[in-house]
Amino acid sequence: MSPVAMAAAEALDPARGIDRFAGRVAAVATRHGKESAIGPALLSRLPLAEVRVIDDLDTDRFGAFSGEVAREQDPLEACQAKARYGAQVSGLDLIVASEGSFAPYPPAPFIPCDEEHLVLFDARDGQCFTHRHVALETVFGGECCTSIAQVLDFAARMRFPGHGLVLRSAERWMPGMTMHKGIADREALLETARQLIAAHGSCWVETDMRAMMNPTRMQVIAETARAFADELARACPACGACWFAVRGVKEGLPCVACGWPTQSIVGQLRGCWCCGHQQFAPRPDGKTHEDPLHCGNCNP
Ligand SMILES: [Zn+2]
Ligand SMILES: [Zn+2]
Repeated sequence: MSPVAMAAAEALDPARGIDRFAGRVAAVATRHGKESAIGPALLSRLPLAEVRVIDDLDTDRFGAFSGEVAREQDPLEACQAKARYGAQVSGLDLIVASEGSFAPYPPAPFIPCDEEHLVLFDARDGQCFTHRHVALETVFGGECCTSIAQVLDFAARMRFPGHGLVLRSAERWMPGMTMHKGIADREALLETARQLIAAHGSCWVETDMRAMMNPTRMQVIAETARAFADELARACPACGACWFAVRGVKEGLPCVACGWPTQSIVGQLRGCWCCGHQQFAPRPDGKTHEDPLHCGNCNP
């Protein structure tokens, strides 16, 4: 390496490793209390000085669960946009943003799943660290109710009042329609449902998916933050950069009967964003062979 290249590499080094976070303040772009789930996880693994919240940041402009603001970008893009906006508004240079989506779980469409994205945006060099986590523990649903009994039955299934609800006159929100968000006590629920049913014959009731209204989601965000912090703190064995994270999976777990490579996962591939180094790691559950049931050779 030439002296110039060596000096350049040395100048880059502090920004690559976990020490790029040393003594810095990370700010969470949220209005929904997510800093309580994210802060402790990041502080436990990264040498940050502090995790705080950006006050009064309008994150709903990037999309709201209850439908008044449609999310136009995919969840990861929306999350990155939120983090950049947080940096712009606060003037701070290390911003955390989170974005959740709720949808049927593809392998079992009758189960809803919670897909959470976390982004840590470093405005000093524009680097965006990201993490995705899918959880099957959700309290998520919506129902058109024509009676108070039906409202109460739905509410009980959605673990109300521990989990908040949203009420409106119809499933599809239209401009001008009143949205009753954050309903978390029985009186408010009964009163609002009675009014809506009297005026419209029915009312739409759904779970309020904002983190502070849905403790199950808040737990999933905390889990996501712990996994993200572990990935951020993991150093590349080749160059020492932080975030030596899982970038993909490798298929081909051999069939136990015939050895044929199945479509099941053999392990994970970690990769470095700085030097491109890759490392294969076997499945964390230790499974080395697949059942012939899932084998294209034994069971075509
Ligand atoms: Zn590396
Ligand atoms: Zn087989």
